[in-house]
Parts: sequence; structure tokens; C-alpha cells
Amino acid sequence: MSDRQIHIVHLYPKEMNIYGDNGNLLVVTMRTKWHGVGVKVSKIGVGDKLPIDTDIIISGGGQDTGQLKIVDDLQTKKLDLINMAKDNVVMLVVCGTYQLFGHQFTTHKNESLPGIGLFDMQTVAGDVRFIGNIVTKTHFGEIVGYENHSGLTTLNKDQSSFGKVISGVGNNDKDDGEGAIKNNVFGTYLHGPLLPKNPKVADELIRRALVRKYGDAMLTQIDDSLALKAAQIAKSRPR
Ligand code: GLN
Repeated sequence: MSDRQIHIVHLYPKEMNIYGDNGNLLVVTMRTKWHGVGVKVSKIGVGDKLPIDTDIIISGGGQDTGQLKIVDDLQTKKLDLINMAKDNVVMLVVCGTYQLFGHQFTTHKNESLPGIGLFDMQTVAGDVRFIGNIVTKTHFGEIVGYENHSGLTTLNKDQSSFGKVISGVGNNDKDDGEGAIKNNVFGTYLHGPLLPKNPKVADELIRRALVRKYGDAMLTQIDDSLALKAAQIAKSRPR
């Protein structure tokens, strides 16, 4: 193994882990090791400070109750997260955390939860829950996941989406955008968890973190036949 090491921060592991999203941390950790790079993992919850040497941040989805538990603490981390994003730190945030990386999330009870405004977008809880397998087209090819949200997310004019919905709903039921991207920060509604069935996305996160820290990335060829088979089966399943 090289003397290189990636510091992965698991943000809100207790509060924001539904639909197996903690699996994303497992995949990034194992694939980083398979690529011959050392890994340090820090679990950062409410009241904890984000480590200054963070290379990748992973955070999952959560019910409205989970979002209420982290919303105030996230505001205390806002400046660090925005500066880290400007410094090209890699982040993957899913659903409930994704929503709070926008300007605000308005709940069913019309409570306005402030986001950190990293993504130029806003979300309003809708009356319909969007549940089922989802397939989107991204720069890394087709990706497959599972969505379960009532939030309707609207990206503002210059905010790029992560992908284009091929089947499923994505950000909302009006346009075909799914998720959001800014620098190396990826936001998505895709649970599953996302990364086990989408190894290309996992490796892209690792590659970007290595390039940012060391200037280059030599990734190993990994046999992903099983992962890709699982993605095909998920893609063929009806919603
Ligand atoms: N509570 C939010 C919604 O329903 C996010 C849910 C989630 O993280 N799956 O849209």
C-alpha cells in the first residue's frame, strides 16, 4: 500500500442513515483500500468539529425528524463546509442532507428549515411521496438507486444537476433534473445505498480526492461484475 492516505468524514452517522446510506461510507472506505491507499475515518455528529484535513465527506438521508435534529448544528458547520467546497473537498450528500445543502427545506408543517446554501436550490415538502427505483444519466454513465422522498427540489438558474432522470422522479415532478453538483460536491436523492451498485461514482469520488491531495490518482482495475449485475437487476425492477 502506498504512503498515501485519504481522510473520510462520516457526517451525522446516527441522525442521517436511512435506507442503508451508511453503506456509502463502507464502499468508499473499501475501494480506497483496494486502490492501495490508506484510509482514516472520522465520525462527525452534532457538536463535533469538522477535521481540517478532511478529504471526503459522506452523509446520508433522514426523515424530517432527523433533519430537525441536525439543522441547527449544520448551521454551525456552514462556513467550514462552504470553504471546504471552495477548496474542492469531495462530498456526497443524500436526500435529507442534500436538501439542507440548499437554501432551505420547508416541511409539511410549513416550518422553514435553513440550509447552508451550498447548492443554489430550495426544497418544499410535497403531498406525494416518490418511492421506487430510479435511473439517471450522469457524466459517469447511467446510475441506479432508490428514491423515497416527498421533497420537491428546485434548482435555480445556474445550479447544475447531478443527472437527468431516465426513469423515476428525481428533484421534482416538473423537470427531469436529479440531484446537484458544485465543484466536487455531489447531492442526490438516490438511496440504495447509492455507491455499491454504482462503482464508477465511488471511484470518481476517490479519484477527485486523490487528485486534489496528491495531484494525481492511479486507480486499480477492480472486478465490478457483481455490482454491475446488481445494478442491472435493480434497473429492471418496476417502481
Ligand atoms: N424528509 C425528506 C423528504 O421526505 C428527506 C427524506 C429522506 O432523506 N429520504 O423529502
